[in-house]
Amino acid sequence: MHTISEKQPSLFPFYEGIKLEKTKKPYYFRLLKDIFDGKYNLEQVNECQCRSRNLEPLSRQDRFGLPFGTVICKDCGLILTTPRLSAKDLPQFYRDIYWGLVLGENSAELSTGDKEKAADIYQLMKNHVPSLDDKNLTIIEIGCGSGVKLNTLKELFSKDNILTTVYGCDFSEEAVSKAKDKGLEVYKGGPEVLAGKKADLVILSHVLEHFIDIKNELKAITGLMDNGGYLYIEVPGVCDLLNKSEYGYNYLIYSIMAHNYNFNLTSLRSAVEPSGFKFIAGDEYVRSIFQYSNTPVAERVNTANNYSRILSYLEQLEKMRKAEESKLSRKVKKWFLKKLSGETHE
Ligand SMILES: [Zn+2]
Repeated sequence: MHTISEKQPSLFPFYEGIKLEKTKKPYYFRLLKDIFDGKYNLEQVNECQCRSRNLEPLSRQDRFGLPFGTVICKDCGLILTTPRLSAKDLPQFYRDIYWGLVLGENSAELSTGDKEKAADIYQLMKNHVPSLDDKNLTIIEIGCGSGVKLNTLKELFSKDNILTTVYGCDFSEEAVSKAKDKGLEVYKGGPEVLAGKKADLVILSHVLEHFIDIKNELKAITGLMDNGGYLYIEVPGVCDLLNKSEYGYNYLIYSIMAHNYNFNLTSLRSAVEPSGFKFIAGDEYVRSIFQYSNTPVAERVNTANNYSRILSYLEQLEKMRKAEESKLSRKVKKWFLKKLSGETHE
């Protein structure tokens, strides 16, 4: 007989979720209600992007304690969210739930850090793409938000006397109108709304992890690129969580149901290279540059040890989390004892 506990993943068992701020709670309950009412179709994920079905359960809840877990592919190390919302439900989810759930009333946070992100893209391009200097650049950003990155890149490249033409697209009407206010040529929708344009550089910053069918989305994106064009991809890297204290060294706080995939650099390469993208440079943060070629990329990343590498990283992370937790509880205990003995007078 199977008990519930036997079915729990060993590394990350039951999780009740972070404490939600008041302004985020209505969105959490609305999502639960909409799922219960059948307004969203949940899909079980049985196959990895690499076609392997060798998937191992990793977690059962996300950051909010919502019943969206993850599995890890034993063949390539890609982490997949399951169940997940279906592709046709995503516009409704992003319109009604997502921003309220992650930001609450703090919608000003929307573009926090985008200037720094643009500076990272600029620097990475300067370091790894020497041919940049002798041309005018066309840049397209998919999921460009209010256009802060595009605007900043324009400024940065103009200091080097590189002339840029920039275009963007985003599903959020509000973001698109803000970008237009900045004088940017930005359209509402996905890559298809930019058909006919060709970019030297396409940017996907914190977008790819939200996709469902990566190959299909990349196919649409290559339609916007010439042979030899560059693709910048940034995603929150799972093998960088020891450097991101904002997640409290907790994989479950990092894991969010809107991310259909969690990558490290190797599993990202493995998901992207088959679509004609040659790896140029990247780190575990993950910030990466690929170059598009319309002939198949010969040199592919070796994923043989990636599954075990990620698992041992996550085990190390759990040790760190527990150590931090006991440090904190020691501090609380000390404070409490002090209080009891009357040493503190506040
Ligand atoms: Zn796989």
